Amino acid sequence: MPSEWQMDCLTSRIRSLHLEIGRVAEKQPAHAATHRIHGALRSILKRFDRLLDDARRRAVPDQVRSVSALEHTYGVVAKELTRVTTMFRMCDRVDSPRIPFEILRSLSHLASIFAGAPVDIVVHLSTEYNYEITSVSRQFERYRWTTWWHAAVASPDGPDRDVLLMIFPSYEVGTTLLHAAAAHELGHVLAHRMDAEISTAVGNTITEVLEEFTEERREFVEVQGVPREMKDSSSENAWRVLLYRDSLITKWIRETFADLVAARLVGPAYLAVMDRLSVGQRGDIFHPPIAVRRRIIKSYLKRHLRHVFVDPAWRDVKQGEAPKPARDVATRCGSAICERALEPLAALLVGLNTPLADRQILADGVRRVADRLDNLAPPSLDLSITNIGEVASAFWLMIYASARYRVSIRRYAAFCERYGWQNTTEIADSALNSMLLNALQNLDVKLRWESTR
Ligand SMILES: [Zn+2]
Repeated sequence: MPSEWQMDCLTSRIRSLHLEIGRVAEKQPAHAATHRIHGALRSILKRFDRLLDDARRRAVPDQVRSVSALEHTYGVVAKELTRVTTMFRMCDRVDSPRIPFEILRSLSHLASIFAGAPVDIVVHLSTEYNYEITSVSRQFERYRWTTWWHAAVASPDGPDRDVLLMIFPSYEVGTTLLHAAAAHELGHVLAHRMDAEISTAVGNTITEVLEEFTEERREFVEVQGVPREMKDSSSENAWRVLLYRDSLITKWIRETFADLVAARLVGPAYLAVMDRLSVGQRGDIFHPPIAVRRRIIKSYLKRHLRHVFVDPAWRDVKQGEAPKPARDVATRCGSAICERALEPLAALLVGLNTPLADRQILADGVRRVADRLDNLAPPSLDLSITNIGEVASAFWLMIYASARYRVSIRRYAAFCERYGWQNTTEIADSALNSMLLNALQNLDVKLRWESTR
């Protein structure tokens, strides 16, 4: 049982965090999305403060039941406090002056398409090398805080407006090309929306592959020496316990789906960014091995966007290698499931508009972007944007074409030479990134311009 002093400490931490969130919220009055999160977090803290208080008042020393109830509440409240602290930290730096994220508005148009409803995006600069877009409302759902989320976002004139938290490596704020990864991350937003369709589409594939691996899985379980009571005739339970099978398959399939979304929207530009984000990684319980992911993405491009796949500009990117996957049965079985899920998953994406679909339109777009970049001009100059569908298509096209420009060895060398940057590619890269940033930001400006005419 925690001592009085320990309970005082917990109460005092809850209250000081409550005050701190209030102070930060006051400092950032203009940011509606962050306000919603802060409001919800403060209500949660208030609720747990009261809960702990009540439990303390009700506890009668020496009365076993009331003491163990207090002990339980103390544990729950301590856990919730840690979660609130984490959530607050994630959402706390959105007003950083270092964020050149003028493109956030353009990105939120894209995100709205994937989420099927309007959303806002806030940024968290991370010191880890990580690019991630995650839904705050879903995080609240995982924590079972949905009530507070609804209370904080309730608007009388429409549905709850989700907030997407975009996590970006702090030392790469200038690398606009990294936003090719947004195609994968928004793929997860779409995967969440299409959860039932995805499960149906890959159900048979999963069963088939698991059956093919039955013998090997059984052997694996025998070798691991699983206690007898966990075994059934097919060793299914033991397998599940040992390898979190369900979790692995669900997560790997969603990961593969998000990869295919990225392949469809930005093609090999996603492989290029994957090389940057996953240096030395092999895959884990959440992600299939990089080598397998690369293979699936390349197969998708080869079969569904052949003109993109055979474009010689991408040769170097396609030839890249990844560490060999582990040989254990879980990795092999999971990888086989993902590889064979390619076509059923690809079939779910045929309706997803991509600027890469039409060979001629793509070639024209790529040429226009490259001409602009050659002359140090933002590649969005001659576009007119009238709706968010056009924002999305121009956004992905510009990411694709700029990445292609960057990896086209001869053209990029000529670009560097023209401006005297042949020995300092960093300057050329930062010029390219800033032209692209400007172009992506312009998409929202142009949309607003058109809508006020
Ligand atoms: Zn992912």
